[in-house]
Amino acid sequence: MLIIWTGLGHPAEVNSFDPTYLDLLQMAQNKPNDAIDQLEKIDLADFSANQKAQHHYFKSIFYSYLDYPNKALETAEKGLSFVNKQEQPWLYHHLTLEKINAMTSMGKGLNGFNDAEKAMNWAQQNNHLQLYLNSLFVLSNLYIQIEDYYKALDLVQQGYEMAPEEGIEFIKADFSSQLSGIYISRNEFAIALPYLEEVYEHEKSKNNLLGMTVSLYELGRAHLALENHEQGIKYLHESIAISEQIQDKQGTAYANNELASHYIEKEEYPKAETLLLNSAEIFIQSENIYLLFDTYYQLSNLYIDMKQLDQAEAYIELARPLIASEQHKYGQISINRLEANLLAAKGQHDQAFDILKQTIKQQGELEAKQSAEKLHAIRAHYELEAKNRENELLSNKNELQEQEIDRKTQQNIWLFSLLIALLVITALFVYFIVKLRKQTKKLHYLANYDELTGLRNRNNTITVIRRELHNLSEHDNLFLVMVDLDHFKKINDRFGHVLGDKVLSYFGEVCMQLFKENTFVGRVGGEEFMICITGKSNQEVYDLIEQLRIKTKQMPEHITAPDLEVSISAGICQADENRNTFRTLHKCADEAMYQAKNTGRNRIVVS
Ligand code: GH3
Ligand code: MG
Ligand code: MG
Repeated sequence: MLIIWTGLGHPAEVNSFDPTYLDLLQMAQNKPNDAIDQLEKIDLADFSANQKAQHHYFKSIFYSYLDYPNKALETAEKGLSFVNKQEQPWLYHHLTLEKINAMTSMGKGLNGFNDAEKAMNWAQQNNHLQLYLNSLFVLSNLYIQIEDYYKALDLVQQGYEMAPEEGIEFIKADFSSQLSGIYISRNEFAIALPYLEEVYEHEKSKNNLLGMTVSLYELGRAHLALENHEQGIKYLHESIAISEQIQDKQGTAYANNELASHYIEKEEYPKAETLLLNSAEIFIQSENIYLLFDTYYQLSNLYIDMKQLDQAEAYIELARPLIASEQHKYGQISINRLEANLLAAKGQHDQAFDILKQTIKQQGELEAKQSAEKLHAIRAHYELEAKNRENELLSNKNELQEQEIDRKTQQNIWLFSLLIALLVITALFVYFIVKLRKQTKKLHYLANYDELTGLRNRNNTITVIRRELHNLSEHDNLFLVMVDLDHFKKINDRFGHVLGDKVLSYFGEVCMQLFKENTFVGRVGGEEFMICITGKSNQEVYDLIEQLRIKTKQMPEHITAPDLEVSISAGICQADENRNTFRTLHKCADEAMYQAKNTGRNRIVVS
């Protein structure tokens, strides 16, 4: 019960403890001894390793409650020997924290930072609230040890905000209690008081006797330190009453010693003597060497004050072997002081002075050594923290780089997709443009040409001829020729329309072969054609039309149909100054063509 936080509520839920143990944990808040007794009655023979680990975990906690840090440490270590770190990380971390907790109570927790932080990180990553609270608790104690109260406060504040109001394990009240512990460590009792009162009220409302006796003890100490003697004594007596009720013997002894210090100050020696003798008995039984030494020290001083020097000497001798252990660093110094006091009381002032001088030197050395150790621990811790931070920075940097790479990859994918889309759009665009052009061309063709023969259609032919006539210069020749297939109706009737079409198509091909330069040929009726020739003489024109007539006549050599006969009648008319309109020219050529018809067909008539 050195510090108020020992125990009070403990871990687990997701990976949770056996309910039996949680029941015992609750019981321990009132009857810690009974809880230990119950644990000891359990036969572990058939238990799994995991159950054994849990068993020792709780036993360790209960020892802490009753301030047996040695036993608590031993039990936590035993628990750790049963737990599988990979399979039960939560239990492993709880046990480790419990071990650090016990070591901190013994003033040896400074190596625990690393493991406590590991537990905290695991808890955070796995959302294990109770383990997280436990690690905050244990870590805050470590920071109190290295006097980094700022950091300790920060952790406790966090715990207070996260802890639930009620429960068997860590709750808000545990962190209020821890907060008061920080102020008590700094001897700021006035600030600690309201928190202590809050904790006491909470424990009282829950009827947690152990919690009540602990907080009454702390309240008593705080009031005495603040010179509220009456109040302090009252609280300590209340604490003793409850400790006796729950058989928390050391609890009684701690309060006794506080009261004794007060009575010595007030020179009420017999009262102090009774209390200290009672405490000594208890600390002998509980093998609490440190507190036993402390009690003998107080008794020796008491007897020196009471001038019972033989008694004082006897207690110095009883105290001496207790400090044989190296861990009791201030022990030798305390003994020296007692001896100096005793010598002074005997009137041997010179000797007393020498011892005191020696002692002060020793104390200076020890304090220097201790502060060096503390400094070393702080430095080691901060170096570790700096390294962790550096690692964190590095991993953040890596993460950023990875994100950047991801972002770039994503960007590239986007750009690539965009490019593909653009290519597709361009291809579609080109495709449609080409298609549109083709269609426009086709439309243009359909508007101006005859599909069957490939020659100009009627409109186009007339337009072209009108233009030629318009542009005709004085010395130029222009001939208009009208051509009509003979007896075409008969061909259709005999061989069918399909063959008729073939004839028309073939006739178109012949025209295109024959007429190239300065010549326009058009289909102006079903089987009627108009040819316009410029820049040629009469004879040249006649020869051309004669060739057309011959080739048409030879058509059956290329189109197989029995007894097929194809011929044309053509009328040629030359444009002159008088017949310079299309209409007259057309009429003239038409008349010549009809003349060819009427004079036996398959012939050419020149107008
Ligand atoms: P003529 O020697 O007096 O010109 O006698 P014809 O039978 O050639 O004259 P007519 O004007 O009596 O008949 C023309 C025929 O041409 C009538 C029609 O069926 C045919 N014809 C007109 N256009 C087409 C066509 O595109 N394809 C086919 N197969 N026949 C057509
Ligand atoms: Mg006709
Ligand atoms: Mg005809």
